[in-house]
Amino acid sequence: MPINQNAPYDGADNGYDFESRITGGEFTEEDAENEISLRPRTLDEYVGQEKVKANLRVFLEACRQRGDSLDHVLLHGPPGLGKTTLSCIIASELGVNLKITSGPAIEKIGDLAALLTGLETNDILFIDEIHRLPRPVEEVLYPAMEDFAIDIMVGKGPGAKSVRIPLKKFTLIGATTRAGRLSAPLRDRFGMSFRLDLYEPEELARIVTRSAGILETGITPEGAYEIARRSRGTPRIANRFLKRVRDFATVMGDGTITRDISDTALRSLDVDELGLDAVDRRMLTAIIKHFDGGPVGLETLSAVIGEESVTLEDVYEPYLLRLGFLNRTPRGRMATASAYRHLGLEAPKKETRGSADQLSFGDPD
Ligand code: ADP
Repeated sequence: MPINQNAPYDGADNGYDFESRITGGEFTEEDAENEISLRPRTLDEYVGQEKVKANLRVFLEACRQRGDSLDHVLLHGPPGLGKTTLSCIIASELGVNLKITSGPAIEKIGDLAALLTGLETNDILFIDEIHRLPRPVEEVLYPAMEDFAIDIMVGKGPGAKSVRIPLKKFTLIGATTRAGRLSAPLRDRFGMSFRLDLYEPEELARIVTRSAGILETGITPEGAYEIARRSRGTPRIANRFLKRVRDFATVMGDGTITRDISDTALRSLDVDELGLDAVDRRMLTAIIKHFDGGPVGLETLSAVIGEESVTLEDVYEPYLLRLGFLNRTPRGRMATASAYRHLGLEAPKKETRGSADQLSFGDPD
């Protein structure tokens, strides 16, 4: 596989506690092992996201027939939905090299210049968290994407001059948790943009069953579905749960994952029947108890429950929105009647309290 495994991006864990991490879609060290063995290698193995796959198939075939490079691609969606996986698949389907890095890892213009000048014709550069590129670095990317050249300043003071370095034709794949965070000039330079959605439980059950096969673990369809429906629509979480549930199956049963074993294991991990963990519940309880159901601003909420606002927004909110437990209004976040019910509380009879029908399921940008 022409994939650069020595990529500078280490996907470092950013210090969340275990409770939040087991259900967080963001990358942890333990995932590294999972990601290599469980990651699908072809578009056919890549479960779900049918519209994205159908479009990509056409663009990939057109590139293959023309022998051309793929247009720059922007992938957006919450962490753990398969953006990196899709990029690896695109590279292997096109038979080109893939270099993986991330916005925060490219600190200086020189870092980016080194990456770009090292690319061969039609190679793919994958930049995760592309919205976190430092601005001067981002500006170097504009001519690189448009004209396949970079302008570097040589020398200092009045004698400094700009030197143009030509690049080979390459494809940039940018990934971001939310496209709305990207600057307009950068966003405009992507020829195509795909949004990855949270997965349906049936799709996650297929992923879990496939992963169990790779891990040589027996699993019943009910066992797989139980893990799937509690995985917050996120394959990375489903695979992480699978490994934990497998431990329970080994110790408590005959090694086969059944519905009961999945249920017991996930309960022990403090994951409730809808996949909510302690942080989700803290978030909803805080809105209800401290702010009378909302609206409350994200920063205030973040201060009250002691989680970073960006984590709440990227990792926790998408699933709570999907469940219809949270409502985003211009004045802040509100808990819906369904959230009250889920927590065993009585919802106040206010019209503004909102039912799931009122919620916007659109891009949370
Ligand atoms: P992202 O880059 O969006 O954070 P990844 O591509 O790293 O997410 O996906 C996390 C893990 O989830 C992968 O290692 C892979 O095992 C699994 N995964 C993601 N999407 C799919 C999919 N569509 N089908 C099967 N497994 C998937």
